[in-house]
Parts: sequence; C-alpha cells; structure tokens
Amino acid sequence: MMPARKRVAVLGGGYAGMAAAAALARAGLAICVHEAGPVLGGRARRISIDGRDIDNGQHLLIGGYTGLLALMHEVGVDPDTAFLRTPLDLRVLPDFHMRCARLPAPLHLVAALLGVRGLSWRERWALIRAVRGAQSANWQLAADLPVADWLALQAQPAPLVESFWRPMTVAALNTPLETASTQVLFNVLRDSLGGARSASDLLFPRLDFSALLPEAAASYVIAQGGEVRLGSTVRGITRTPQGWRVEEDEFDAVVCALPPHRLDMALADVAAAQPVLSMLADWDYQPIVTLYLQYAADVALPQPMVGVAGGLSQWVFDRNYTHATPGLMAVVLSARGAHSALGQAELTEAIVAELRQHFGWVAPVWTRVIAEKRATFACIPDLQRPANATADPTLWLAGDYTAGDYPATLEGAVRSGLAAARGIIAAI
Ligand SMILES: Cc1cc2nc3c(=O)[nH]c(=O)nc-3n(C[C@H](O)[C@H](O)[C@H](O)COP(=O)(O)OP(=O)(O)OC[C@H]3O[C@@H](n4cnc5c(N)ncnc54)[C@H](O)[C@@H]3O)c2cc1C
Repeated sequence: MMPARKRVAVLGGGYAGMAAAAALARAGLAICVHEAGPVLGGRARRISIDGRDIDNGQHLLIGGYTGLLALMHEVGVDPDTAFLRTPLDLRVLPDFHMRCARLPAPLHLVAALLGVRGLSWRERWALIRAVRGAQSANWQLAADLPVADWLALQAQPAPLVESFWRPMTVAALNTPLETASTQVLFNVLRDSLGGARSASDLLFPRLDFSALLPEAAASYVIAQGGEVRLGSTVRGITRTPQGWRVEEDEFDAVVCALPPHRLDMALADVAAAQPVLSMLADWDYQPIVTLYLQYAADVALPQPMVGVAGGLSQWVFDRNYTHATPGLMAVVLSARGAHSALGQAELTEAIVAELRQHFGWVAPVWTRVIAEKRATFACIPDLQRPANATADPTLWLAGDYTAGDYPATLEGAVRSGLAAARGIIAAI
C-alpha cells in the first residue's frame, strides 16, 4: 500500500501561485489550484479584446530574473525562443541613450556609463559618481530614504534626473521618485547593471503572459496528477483539526497566493493570518496604465522600446518586434501622475498627440486603455513586508508583496512562490 499523497491547496493562479504549485507537484504532493479568473496569470495575463489577444499590461523582464527563467525551463518553455533578448539599451527621447556593450562585467557597465549620449560631461560624471558610490557601498544604504532625496544628496543635475533616474525608477519600482525606496532601487541595480552582463539584458516576451509561465506550469501540475480550477473564487478557508477546508475539500496545507489587497477575502477568519492582515491594512498601491494603439503597418520604432521624457507617455513598445503585429504600439504609464486625472478619451487624445509630436505618427485606427488600479504595492522606504511563513506551519503566503529584495515583479512573485513551497515541504 502506498501512503496517500499529502494534499495542498494553492489559492491564486498568478506567477507566485503557479510557481508554488509546480514546485510542490515536483515534490510529489497532490496540488489543487483555485484561480478566480477565467485564465491563469493574474496581474500578468492574456486578455482578448476586439478579436485581439493582448496582455493586461505590457511587461518587461531582465536577464537577472533567474528564478523565473529556470522555472520556465523546468515546465517546458524555452526562454531562448520565448523572449527577444537584447543587451540593455535605454533610449529616452529627446536625446538620452545608454547602451551596454557586449563586454564582460564590469566593462559592459563602464562602457555604458562612459558612452552615454545626451548628457553633458558634467552630468555624465555625476551619473558615474553616483553609480560608483552605490556600488562601492555594496549597494547597501545605512538608512533607506526616497530616491529623490538620495539624488539630491548626490547632487544629480536636473536633466540627468529627468532623462535617466526618473524613468528608470518609476519603471523598476512603479512608485514616483519622490516616494520610492532607494534601497529597493539599489537591489534592482545590483542584480542588473551591477551583475553579470547578461543580467542587465532586456527580455521582451514573444508569448502572452498566461502562456509564458502559468499555463505551462498548470500542464506540469496536471501531468503530476494535480488539478487546476479556473473560475474558482475562494471566499474563506477554515482550519480543521486535521488541516484545512477549502471550498468543501480537505487539505493538509495551504499556499495563499492572492494579491495583498485580496488576502482578507480568504483569510479573514484565520487566526494565524491576523498579524499579516493588520500589516497590510494601510498599504498603498500604485496603478499602471497600458494604452494600445494600432497604427498603419509601416509605423515602427527603431528598437523594441523607446522612452519619452517630459510628457505623459513613459515607455513606448513596438509589439511587432515580438508579436508579428505591424504598427501595434503599447504605451506604458507607471504609477500615479498627471495622467491619473484624465478620463480614457482625454488620455488617448493626449498620448496620440505626444506620439505624433515625437515620431510623426498620424491617427491610430484602433486604441484601447487598460488601467490596473492596484498594479503593485507602493514601494516606499522601510516598508515592512510579511514573511512567507505564518504562525501556522501549514499556511504559507506567496506573492510579489512578501518580504524580499525586489519591488513587485514577476521575479519577486516566482521567488516567493518557490520559498512558500520549500516551507510547506519542510513542514509536512
Ligand atoms: C500592468 C502591469 C505591468 C507590470 N509590469 C511589470 C514588468 O514589466 N515587469 C515585472 O517584473 N513586473 C511587472 N508587473 C508586476 C507583476 O505583474 C506582478 O508583480 C506579478 O504578476 C504578481 O504576481 P502574484 O502571483 O504575486 O499576484 P497576482 O498576479 O495578483 O496573482 C494572484 C491571483 O489570485 C487570483 N485571486 C484573487 N482573489 C482570489 C480568490 N478569492 N480566489 C481565487 N483566486 C483569487 C487572481 O485572479 C490572480 O490570478 C506589472 C503589473 C501590472 C499590473
């Protein structure tokens, strides 16, 4: 007689939940994923609008996302074909341009900093001084502070702030410069620019975000005898003497991989979760708006992504580089800003005018605004984030918001899911 396999419920089929599910299935546990939505992926998922398959938001990954890349491999998605991979190349209009050369670290960074275009020598030197200073402190601050305050201490000139630090910080942390955590920005820089050359590579997905990892992870879980339930909203779980009751089924352990603002939906009556729910009660969140615009087929960018400083648009992605959709652009507006006060029609009009001014593109034939109101938690200095473990050894948390080095990212979510899985395996 084989002993019955231990059963684990995973609540939420985003990147964190599916990473946990795959790791637990690999360890031989019987997994049941409950996902409320009709597709897997959560905040990084495929949506179908007007007959087009697009994503709920344009995402960008970097070579330093080692946990995510390894997991893709494991569940059968080849990162070499799933991404268009380029060395770091940040072009921000009107004239900033920084490129990493194909040289071994740290020469790639030295060459990138020395070769920056669109800055005066004084500004270039200020950038080198700030990056070198952070690097020689091992990317560690004595006390965290807002990025804007740190930049002021480093005497960073205004044109450098606007063309490099502001777009980079808001893209990496989805939090305005004035309130973003410098320590978390340092962590990102350490593991990208400060790492091996390949760590700073830009990875532009060729697949939609449900296919990139969550659906392949689901196939893997099912192949190991597990189950993935879509449209299954968990409205509360109950501790029983033997384990947990989730939607009429009994489990030995639970990974809660819901977004932080939805945790109370499942855990409101769970004693072990109360400290976490109190910690999260006053968290602030930041939005991300993606505006898709279909132009004529000959409209194109000179590279997959170009930044725009000084207006509403932040980063423009040419989807034709990755999705064979000539003329389809995605404009990303991260965090709260001047655009937040505009309605969808006004915003579209303003962005179309900016793109015409910068690139000369005339009116698009199709547009769509997708606003994710709670795209990420606001990544402010010294934010206390919950651990994966709770007071109950059979209840673990997974998600981009749990304690870790990174802001809310796909890599943070995957690492958190894997950590929760390790915790459960050790516990049961
Ligand atoms: C527009 C946008 C752009 C972004 N850009 C980037 C980027 O460029 N690079 C990057 O690394 N990161 C980016 N991010 C952040 C990244 O998408 C998130 O950090 C990551 O997807 C979070 O994954 P998660 O699994 O922790 O949470 P989620 O994706 O939120 O997963 C939680 C899941 O739980 C489900 N759920 C909720 N309630 C219930 C319930 N009661 N019962 C069952 N299921 C439930 C949800 O439907 C969801 O599928 C972006 C996010 C957005 C929104």
